[in-house]
Amino acid sequence: MRVLALTGGIGSGKSTVLEMFAALGAEVVDADQLARELVQPGQPALAEIAQAFGPSMLLPDGSLDRGRLGSLIFGDTTARLRLNAITHPRIRRRIMEEIEARRPRGGVLVLDIPLLYENGLANLAEAVVVVWVDPKTQLTRLVERNGLSEEDARRRIAVQRPLDEKRALADLVVDNNGSLAETRRQVAEIYQRYVS
Ligand code: ATP
Repeated sequence: MRVLALTGGIGSGKSTVLEMFAALGAEVVDADQLARELVQPGQPALAEIAQAFGPSMLLPDGSLDRGRLGSLIFGDTTARLRLNAITHPRIRRRIMEEIEARRPRGGVLVLDIPLLYENGLANLAEAVVVVWVDPKTQLTRLVERNGLSEEDARRRIAVQRPLDEKRALADLVVDNNGSLAETRRQVAEIYQRYVS
């Protein structure tokens, strides 16, 4: 099993590219999904979060109040670091377990990790694929897809590490500025290189 990690910026085309890899036969692991599972009721991480930030972080049914936690950490670096200390090691461990479970098999595994560079997860894979678009295309697609104002879209882009920086760090770049067919061609080329 060859392991690739896929990342990019908001609206750069990660989901589009992931679907293309899957259509070619790649297996996929969704890091955000694993992260959500780790804070389900009964999981130790959720108990630690309630202990660190108070029981008001839980909804009446015992599940995590994501909105409340999100607002808390948005403007509070100490709280954000504290939350990361609870969740990040567990997310890394879960991704590693998913890799190990598939290790004996052949083929390609693509780890879908939107915040890969932000969270220091680049070393989990043999190579990191960054889905890149230029800033103008990113803005236009985000406005169109999410129905956001241009100002809102700019703000959402600005809170992430710049896509050009991620591109510079990437092992492989999928240039998604062009047509879907052009993107599919690049994805197929990468897949073929790793599948054998
Ligand atoms: P997010 O981080 O917000 O989940 P994403 O990186 O997964 O976004 P996608 O949802 O794949 O990005 O793509 C963003 C939008 O751009 C979607 O509406 C998608 O259909 C469109 N899109 C992606 N690639 C292309 C392309 N090559 N040509 C035209 N539109 C595209």
